[in-house]
Amino acid sequence: MTPTLESARKLDRHDPLAGFKARFALPEGVLYLDGNSLGAQPRDAREALALTRDQWRDELVKGWNQGWFDAPERLGDLLAPLLGAGPGEVVVSDNITLNLFKLLGYIIDSQKRARSVILSEGGNFPSDSYIAQGLCRFTGLEHRVLPEGGDLADYLDERVAAVVLSQVHYRTGRLRDMAAITALVREQGAEVIWDLAHSAGAMPVDLNGSGVRYAVGCTYKYLNGGPGAPGFLYVHKDSQARGWQPLSGWHGHAAPFDFEGDYAPAPGILRFRTGTHSALAYAPLEASLRLWREVDMTALRAKSLALGELFQDCLTDLFESKGIEDITPPVAERGSQVALIHREHGYAIVQALIARGVIGDYRAPGLMRFGFTPLYLSYEDVWQAARHFREVVETREYLGPALLTRSAVT
Ligand SMILES: *Cc1c(COP(=O)(O)O)cnc(C)c1O
Repeated sequence: MTPTLESARKLDRHDPLAGFKARFALPEGVLYLDGNSLGAQPRDAREALALTRDQWRDELVKGWNQGWFDAPERLGDLLAPLLGAGPGEVVVSDNITLNLFKLLGYIIDSQKRARSVILSEGGNFPSDSYIAQGLCRFTGLEHRVLPEGGDLADYLDERVAAVVLSQVHYRTGRLRDMAAITALVREQGAEVIWDLAHSAGAMPVDLNGSGVRYAVGCTYKYLNGGPGAPGFLYVHKDSQARGWQPLSGWHGHAAPFDFEGDYAPAPGILRFRTGTHSALAYAPLEASLRLWREVDMTALRAKSLALGELFQDCLTDLFESKGIEDITPPVAERGSQVALIHREHGYAIVQALIARGVIGDYRAPGLMRFGFTPLYLSYEDVWQAARHFREVVETREYLGPALLTRSAVT
């Protein structure tokens, strides 16, 4: 039976996370199902940004000694509990793309170049493969692709140095068994770097408990750090003194303010810093991470799954009759999004929804993604978003001519 509005409201009345919605500044009339692409703005972020702006004006260069310089490791420690990591294991810096480059080079160096193949997955977010290709081009290493749906075990051998995998796939939302796969890769003598872009802030993550040594992620999606907010990098405590990372800049030097002629890596996670970062970009993220410290991740996961299922339950009958394919994995194997395919009109349907204030996103070819962010979405929001979806598809509103032309960012 299709869920009623009253049943959605009832779920809201019993929602232990309901109080968080008021702590986000969402525009009036918007139903935001794209927090898996850019998270909404925490109200505290605005104040934090204003404070740093004024600190720049009033304190000038002294600001670097007032929390700007050590922000990468301070925010890393704030973020660590959400990832199942300990203090000194996470640094907030650069972005996923650069952090992958740093970790790949670090692993190659730590293995004394005994292995020469970097394996990445076909069909994953392309930057993860592009950066492997770039590193291989400049070092003579070899790039190997694990085809989508292929069996990882078939692609591992004694030449593989490192594997880059996403814990949750950006298109399908499929969740991998991080502990089992990490064990498999390490049995073969290789390392795996986990990309947490679609799992950090979307569900409980247990890096230490899963035997993970290396991971990267971003903070502008589920973690609500703001557009272009810095990414993060995790290295297990026992694996932090094995070599150099290739972006060997002065902020990762053992004594950055000695201005020595030769590079010497800083101890611990600090060697994964590069050069000067934007203090302004760290301010809203720090406010957001403080809010995250209050969140019960078990309750978050339960609500995330319930929101996704509510959306599907409201629309299942429509999918069948309108040629829409629901490729979302079963509940136990999914992240925090619902992925629907309409080959011909996926783009136009998403545009028609955006025109109604229901924001999801489109990924070619044909894929409509809807992200579920339990801190600022209510069950009623999701019910209403599904109602709009049904109306757009049933009336073919998406065929309006203005909806068919594409913007640069989709
Ligand atoms: C969003 C995303 C990225 C983005 O990388 P940036 O360097 O932060 O732009 C990388 N990998 C995956 C899997 C993503 O979903």
